[in-house]
Amino acid sequence: MTFSVNLTLCPFDSKDLNREYSGGSFLVSCSHCGAEWEVHNNLVLRVTDPNWEMAEQVTAIVSERIAEHLANSASTS
Ligand SMILES: [Zn+2]
Repeated sequence: MTFSVNLTLCPFDSKDLNREYSGGSFLVSCSHCGAEWEVHNNLVLRVTDPNWEMAEQVTAIVSERIAEHLANSASTS
C-alpha cells in the first residue's frame, strides 16, 4: 500500500511520524509535539493540534542551525 499523501515528517518540527492503520484510514501522530492526523485516501484531517510551545521551540532551533550553516558556508568560500 502506498502512502499517497506526503505526510512522513511532522510539518511543525520535522520529526518522524507514527502511522497506525485502523478501519480504512491511517492515524498519523507525532510523538514529539503530539499533533495527530487522520488520513483517508487523499484527505488529511488534523484531529489534534500540536503542542505549539514544543513545535515553536524546535522551529527556533532549526532556524538557528540554518543560520549557523549559512554563516559557516559564507566564511569558508
Ligand atoms: Zn511534531
